[in-house]
Amino acid sequence: MEGMNFPKSVVLAIQSKHISRSQILNLQADRLDKLVTYARTKSPYFKELYRNVGEHPDLTALPVTKKRELMANFDSWVTDQSINLNGIDVFIGDQKNIGKIMAGRCRVSLTSGSTGIPCKVLNDKDSIALSMSLYFIRTLRLRELIRLGLRWGKILIISNPSFNMIYNAMMAQVHLSKLNKYRCAAISIDTPPEEIIEKINAFKPAILYTYPSVMKILLPLIQAGSIKHPPYLLILGGERCSPILHSTLQAHLNTHILNSYGCSECSLIAYSCSEGHLHVYADWVIVEPVDLENRPVPSGVLSDKILVTNLSNYTQPFIRYEVDDRIIYHEETCACGNSLPFIEVEGRIDDNLVLQSKSGPVTFSPMTLASPSEMNGVIKYQVIHTQQNHLVIKLVVDDGYDRQEIFQNIADELRRAFLTRGVEDISFSLSDEIPQRHPVSGKFKMIVHQVSLDSF
Ligand SMILES: [Zn+2]
Repeated sequence: MEGMNFPKSVVLAIQSKHISRSQILNLQADRLDKLVTYARTKSPYFKELYRNVGEHPDLTALPVTKKRELMANFDSWVTDQSINLNGIDVFIGDQKNIGKIMAGRCRVSLTSGSTGIPCKVLNDKDSIALSMSLYFIRTLRLRELIRLGLRWGKILIISNPSFNMIYNAMMAQVHLSKLNKYRCAAISIDTPPEEIIEKINAFKPAILYTYPSVMKILLPLIQAGSIKHPPYLLILGGERCSPILHSTLQAHLNTHILNSYGCSECSLIAYSCSEGHLHVYADWVIVEPVDLENRPVPSGVLSDKILVTNLSNYTQPFIRYEVDDRIIYHEETCACGNSLPFIEVEGRIDDNLVLQSKSGPVTFSPMTLASPSEMNGVIKYQVIHTQQNHLVIKLVVDDGYDRQEIFQNIADELRRAFLTRGVEDISFSLSDEIPQRHPVSGKFKMIVHQVSLDSF
């Protein structure tokens, strides 16, 4: 994004906080036109893709883009031709680079999840500044920002070290100033729950970021009053948070809980308001609810997927990009006064996985199982819990990769993660079948339970 800087991004975030629907649509159209013009000028891939598209096209005149094809054409997709996939692979091969800006140009993030090949996502410094400004200015009131400041904005994230968006953002702060290592901390999601609570109490974070499934694991301790210093702000992301989990956490922590919806390809799609609705950042992202044939789905009706256009990423354009989440789009005005449309998201609803250790049952977040999906060669995978401490893996791998070898790598990585919580006796087998959606609901679940479990 050329011409953007931090002060300007703050102004833009404030300026359009409460604007009318028609002003938003005008902004969208202007920004889309600029992005499309830039993409077809600077990206050889988009130049070819749009060869039959006229100048200043409507959104619906543009072809839908898919992760697999974009990743296969990565070097011609990006608009900065000094960046290439080989260089990125070298960069992300070193964990010390988490949070750093690659070659002074952009931050690299990896998608997680099991529903497709991992996507390597680039964000330049200006789009990062805009995202941060939008996130905090749109979602928090001034007095909440002041409260965070009173605890020096201390942030604790419960997430494994990887190139995911949140760990990257936290480490970026640490790289910015050595003093920030006292203000920013992380703890692995596979840490025993008692130790996580100890860390929260010792660190006294202003902001706690994690996944809903991790809070579900911590819930019995939270209900017992173990957290002595609740964070001022609890940010839940990466998965859907059930209303009952949200209200139970709210009741016991008495903290501001923020739900947001996004993906690595477009980190900010929607944010929750006082009414619990997820409002779309419609001035900087276009969300199209569509059916399986990419036909628009009307407001109030569940879509089969969405097409996302990220209007702020000029380095790696995502335009009408297919995302495998189902949503209901709402055009009606929200009681909170925000004129931006809001959405309900159905997706990322995996249950936790319960395995037996010598000292009893141990619960793992679906995020533990998501990490192998970042391995090179993995296109899609699914875990079927068939018997106690036996997991069946369904797997699709990319051309040129050995399926059996990748299965072994996945099993080894999961075995290591389970061992950290005392689960020693675990077995895996590789299924001949491919990962499948639920035959009735059509939902994709990374973990399919075929054993009874004590679910929340
Ligand atoms: Zn609202």
